[in-house]
Amino acid sequence: MEQLAGGVELERYARQLKLLGEDGQKALKEATVLVAGIGGLGGTAALYLAAAGVGRLILAHEGVIVAPDLNRQILMDTAHLGQERMSTAVARLKQLNPHVEIEGHNARIEPHTAAPWVEAADIVIDARYDFPERYALNRLCVELDTPMVEAAMYGFEISLTTVIPGLTPCLECLYPDLQPEWEPLGFPVLGATAGMAGCLAALEAVKWITGVGTTYAGVMHRFSSLDFACYSVRIARNPNCACCGEGGKP
Ligand SMILES: [Zn+2]
Repeated sequence: MEQLAGGVELERYARQLKLLGEDGQKALKEATVLVAGIGGLGGTAALYLAAAGVGRLILAHEGVIVAPDLNRQILMDTAHLGQERMSTAVARLKQLNPHVEIEGHNARIEPHTAAPWVEAADIVIDARYDFPERYALNRLCVELDTPMVEAAMYGFEISLTTVIPGLTPCLECLYPDLQPEWEPLGFPVLGATAGMAGCLAALEAVKWITGVGTTYAGVMHRFSSLDFACYSVRIARNPNCACCGEGGKP
């Protein structure tokens, strides 16, 4: 079992050891999490996973920082406008916690490139904003039997579930068709709402890795950050799902 560097890390995580225990902290240290998307949602998740001491983070997100990112993408900053998002994010996370190994890819989620990242991960956080990438990631997770936290937000609304391939519904069970009305660029978002969704996603990953608490596997949680109304519903697999159903496995 990988050791927590000579007590230095135990001191760093002292306040959460009471919640997770030393075994839980070691499990985090041994874990690899793929965070697909480091915008308002995924960037917040990555920040808290790094702070919590996940041993290795694999991050994927393409492009450069533009001004409209800065209302929510808290790994980015004004000084780095026009520069690559990923290198800025990796530097920020290393600054936060040098004990975390961080692998950053300035890339979209494509089946051939993302497969080794999914394979290396104990759990994946889907924080992409567009459905083609979400579907590609979902298919990889089902194929490689890797759990995936499916976190999304739109306006003030947040939704979250955790996909355990073969046990709980996958993204295509829930949304069998591409969502044509989805507006990938320019959708409404307030940073605090995206950050709340990111915190929930990070918590799901921590719970899954440490075994503390109960995840939203097989449950869809919906939350309004405007009036704090929330509800959870049990969700079922679609036996005819084109991704995870009988004969439909990719
Ligand atoms: Zn499915």
